[in-house]
Amino acid sequence: KDICSKVIRKRFLDYFIKENGHDFVKSSPVVPYCDPTVAFVNAGMNQFKAIFLGNQAPQYEKVANSQKCIRVGGKHNDLDIIGKDGYHHTFFEMLGNWSFGAYFKTEACELAWDLLTNVYKLPASRLYVTYFKGDDKLGIEEDLETKEIWRKIGVSEEKILPFGITENFWEMGLTGPCGPCTEIHIDLIKTASRPQFVNKGLHDLTELWNIVFIQYNRQPDGTVRPLPKQHVDTGMGFERLTSILQGKISNYDTDNFAYLINAIYKNSSKVPKYQGNFGENDWNNLDTSYRILADHTRMITACLADGMIPEQKTILSSNQNSNGLVKELSKYVVDHLGHVYPEMERNITQIHQIIDYEEDIYKSLKLVAKKDWGKLTKAELSEIDVIDSPSFITAYKEVAAMNPSKIDSKLAFKLYDTYGLDEDCIAKLSKLFKLKFDPADLKQELEQAKYKSKKQNMYSENEMYAYLIKNGYPRTDDSFKYSYVKNEDKYVF
Ligand code: ATP
Ligand code: MG
Ligand code: MG
Ligand code: MG
Repeated sequence: KDICSKVIRKRFLDYFIKENGHDFVKSSPVVPYCDPTVAFVNAGMNQFKAIFLGNQAPQYEKVANSQKCIRVGGKHNDLDIIGKDGYHHTFFEMLGNWSFGAYFKTEACELAWDLLTNVYKLPASRLYVTYFKGDDKLGIEEDLETKEIWRKIGVSEEKILPFGITENFWEMGLTGPCGPCTEIHIDLIKTASRPQFVNKGLHDLTELWNIVFIQYNRQPDGTVRPLPKQHVDTGMGFERLTSILQGKISNYDTDNFAYLINAIYKNSSKVPKYQGNFGENDWNNLDTSYRILADHTRMITACLADGMIPEQKTILSSNQNSNGLVKELSKYVVDHLGHVYPEMERNITQIHQIIDYEEDIYKSLKLVAKKDWGKLTKAELSEIDVIDSPSFITAYKEVAAMNPSKIDSKLAFKLYDTYGLDEDCIAKLSKLFKLKFDPADLKQELEQAKYKSKKQNMYSENEMYAYLIKNGYPRTDDSFKYSYVKNEDKYVF
């Protein structure tokens, strides 16, 4: 019988907290309440940013946790790959351990290797490690120290591989704490035939654990400055670890997802069962839809539990014709994850109210759009193959009335912001009117707007304490900066 995911998570925490002197720090909310540089918390280290930068003294020297992460937008955006592979999610749990100036490279590598090979009993023969090969532009040398550490641990020479800045230099966002990293990858060729799973160009190698040596601060001008102290920041994908330990070919086949896949089947009528297939261009494949829906439901539930109001499209794209399905599925997510992240249980009413609200808006928009489409001529309609957005028609009328010479960045942004049209829809509209439109203009405008609105919506620290306390996050105090949560909670799951 498979080892249960609950046990896997607990074993990680026990290893660091009970057996290796780390303290437990609760997962921060997925919303980075006081940090305008990222839209979502994308790694376990986010809540410790102020410590890394030297702006805050650490409460504990060594900590560990499982952190709720979201990778939609920004530097780490996995949205486009969701459902297509079996190991990227928009929402996932990152198991992590940190040293704030206590231990550094040697101990970090030894701990990770010991846990994987001796505790979880993964065969060393299937593990590969990577290290930073250096970068001239940044003026950082090859990390030979780390290479030597792995050699001493006993990893064979041909399994210690150097990579450059994209793979082995970890950064939270465009600015902020960063540093060279060393990663542990696993060869899955021997467990199962994994179709088309490609990672770093090597078939069947999946990245499992990233160990970052936080040493620098990336400046807005692109240069890096050394930080006052050297820290360790690690992150291992919990869903990936579960999949490996349960011998599955994809995370969706583990107990972290199977309950949701079953729930989708149970709550949909006349839909064939999930087969677990992956293919090259299978965007319309039913299995892919199963995976996307399961993935997005977890993400939406996590976001809403933490007080975030999603853009309409998030819920809608996974909820086109399904009355109340997302709401129903979110109950399963809360059942499954509520014991680890009690804020999900606490805020379940809020989660459901927002899902209902968004669904209602979508339905009424669609009704209005349906009426309006009837007024277009056949020729006009024939140019539009899909009605992507219910407010497309309204935008169409607006553009017709304006009669602009091109769709410039301002107009593109208005179409996006006011009518909810995405890049594809705007491109279609521009074709319809034979107007020039450059998607890069929109992207740039969006980036700026995101930063601006994020700044305006930023909580003051006092508001943030109030919010966190109201939502049952552990006690906070004056040393609290960014989203670092000081707490005396013990994990009980
Ligand atoms: P990948 O190269 O597979 O996209 P990454 O290098 O972007 O992973 P890191 O930023 O190093 O990932 O994050 C640390 C760990 O978190 C990874 O080693 C992986 O196990 C896990 N992880 C990263 N992104 C995802 C995701 N989208 N879904 C699930 N797990 C993830
Ligand atoms: Mg990635
Ligand atoms: Mg990677
Ligand atoms: Mg990585």
